Amino acid sequence: MAFDPEQLRAEFPILNTRLGGKALHYLDNAASAQIPVAVIDAVMRHETAARANVSRGVHSLAERATEAYEAARSIIARYLNAALPDEVVFTGGTTGAINLVAQGSASQLKPGDEIVISELEHHSNIVPWHMLRERIGVALRALPVTDEGRVDLAALDRTVTKRTRMIALAHVSNVTGAVLDVAPVVAAARASGAQVLLDGAQAVPHGPVDVRALGVDFYAFSGHKMFAPNGIGVLWGKREALARLAPAFGGGGMIREVALDQISYADPPRRFEAGTPPIAQAVGLGEAARWVAALEREAVAAHELRLTGRMLDGLADIRGVRVVGPQGLQARRGVVSFTLDGVHPHDLCQFVDDRFAVALRGGHHCAQPLMRRFGLAGTSRASLAPYNTDADVDALLQGVAEARRVLV
Ligand code: PMP
Repeated sequence: MAFDPEQLRAEFPILNTRLGGKALHYLDNAASAQIPVAVIDAVMRHETAARANVSRGVHSLAERATEAYEAARSIIARYLNAALPDEVVFTGGTTGAINLVAQGSASQLKPGDEIVISELEHHSNIVPWHMLRERIGVALRALPVTDEGRVDLAALDRTVTKRTRMIALAHVSNVTGAVLDVAPVVAAARASGAQVLLDGAQAVPHGPVDVRALGVDFYAFSGHKMFAPNGIGVLWGKREALARLAPAFGGGGMIREVALDQISYADPPRRFEAGTPPIAQAVGLGEAARWVAALEREAVAAHELRLTGRMLDGLADIRGVRVVGPQGLQARRGVVSFTLDGVHPHDLCQFVDDRFAVALRGGHHCAQPLMRRFGLAGTSRASLAPYNTDADVDALLQGVAEARRVLV
């Protein structure tokens, strides 16, 4: 069946919401995407037919729950083209996944070792490394960002050194929408003996990712941005890379043997899943991955790109608007940040919400170093999903034009 965004909308009951009598235009997908009926049903089915704790139970329902949880792991492994399901660790989200790598690497690092990030990272990919800097004395180095809002890969040579242990970068920026060119990063890492972690929070909602083709060591993402429930995310790691990580959390389910005077840990991925995991959420994430993978990827990408172009062209026609990010459509996703001269991003977001029921995000987007780079307190950001339509983009453009007339 040909891809039809209008038909897709029928799978998302929340998109029928009316606010103050106006149809909702949901353009905050980079913060959290909406959830389709297929995923809600999968969670419902699990909770009504297979709810029990996993791994430790011996009764039939516990076996069913364990099977469902492990089946979700296998679906995610396929979504990422991982070599093995056991390379998939369930976490609370991208933040949990990156912290797991940072904290788990601590014992391998010494003062003076270097971690390379970039100026456009989300705080989730900055703060965990800062914590290592404070704890161990590793040095944090950042690749600069170009005027277009991309990581400046020309600086790789002078930023990555023999002391670099980790290069941790966003696959897609949550502010500028720029897509990272991963190959030169991996080449620089290999030349210096460093590992590579990609923050894929804004990449995985757009379709399966091939971690083996990317050639990275770790890949992190969140379920709630890819049409799945909250409270679930993934750390994928190469088997050898996960094997080297120490567990950051201790508790049930992550041990091999516990005595009062000694302990041994389970192998990955269980070593990193202390306590009862978010089971129904994992089942929902598996269903969401299946749902995304079944979309006609090229048609969806073309649709989102067309809407991105419509947004960029429309914003360019409004006096006082400045887009922070690539102006063209190449190597970018449908995440568009912009400022309106004389209007605070929060005021703009509130205005378009009140008058046009357009949901945007306004602020620093957990990327304060990037805001500083552009000399901004914040931006307004519109971000697309496959179910967005021309009507959503037009409502945004109308709202911003009206805000300029009323607020400036
Ligand atoms: N990295 C990026 C690029 C993001 O967009 C986000 C979410 N805004 C995160 C990390 C953090 O994700 P979560 O809050 O789900 O852990």
